[in-house]
Amino acid sequence: MELLKTIKEVREYSFLHQKQGLSVGLVPTMGALHKGHLSLIEASKGDNKTTIASIFVNPIQFNNPADLAKYPRTLEKDLEILEKAGCEAVFAPQEQEMYRSKPVVKMEFGTLETVMEGAFRPGHFSGVGVVVAKLFNIIQPKHAYFGQKDLQQFLIIQQMVNDLSFPLTLHCCPIIRESDGLAMSSRNTRLTPQNRPVAAKIYQSLQLAESMLYKEGVEKTKQAVNDFFSSYKELQPEYFEIADGVSLAPIKELAAHKKIALCSAVFLDGVRLIDNIMME
Ligand code: AMP
Repeated sequence: MELLKTIKEVREYSFLHQKQGLSVGLVPTMGALHKGHLSLIEASKGDNKTTIASIFVNPIQFNNPADLAKYPRTLEKDLEILEKAGCEAVFAPQEQEMYRSKPVVKMEFGTLETVMEGAFRPGHFSGVGVVVAKLFNIIQPKHAYFGQKDLQQFLIIQQMVNDLSFPLTLHCCPIIRESDGLAMSSRNTRLTPQNRPVAAKIYQSLQLAESMLYKEGVEKTKQAVNDFFSSYKELQPEYFEIADGVSLAPIKELAAHKKIALCSAVFLDGVRLIDNIMME
């Protein structure tokens, strides 16, 4: 496996492979890898001759400096995991390499970002858009892989790819969960052994909503989820939304929505966890 640290190196690597007719798949990550990330690598390996994973904790997408400082960084272990998974190359630049100076370009995503993560993390999706656009321009992959775990992020990147005509195909991969249902996340490593079992309640709250929604409607379902959380004092929900699965607009009436996304962000002992269920 090649470890590439500069823009020049990864660009040359990608272009050389594509010149030889080998399709390149990109899996962007922030490291602290787990099986959720590996499912994206597997998907890319299935579609492409060469898979490049990127590992970069992108400072401009963190609106909270403490969250950035506490973000787990485990590069050595990540490289071992990727090597074992058969990933062909890793792009792991330093911050200085990606941002020689602080970028001034901002991205806006209209109503897609006025809700949920966009509403609670101002500037987050501008930072995501800028770093993903940079990665696409640097590496120019034919395919790029993202997780449904960050549903709003996927929809925003899809919008950016369409609006700016990036010549690549996006793939949205299913959420990989722990055996108790907790969505795998790099942030889970920050949970204490006492809190770790409680974290599974987040997925249970989404399952409760899924089971109720068509029988009881939007308001009663929201109330039931609120009641559910109020019985677990360790969990502080930031939002629970029942949203259109394409536009992410909050839903009042169930009719006329082909896809419905149930999405939540919850704090557990200062760790912010997100999860969702897509109902089709
Ligand atoms: P991150 O390193 O958290 O930025 O995630 C990198 C990519 O992995 C994103 O596209 C995430 O949506 C995806 N991802 C993170 N957790 C999971 C999971 N549990 N299942 C599937 N994909 C995931």
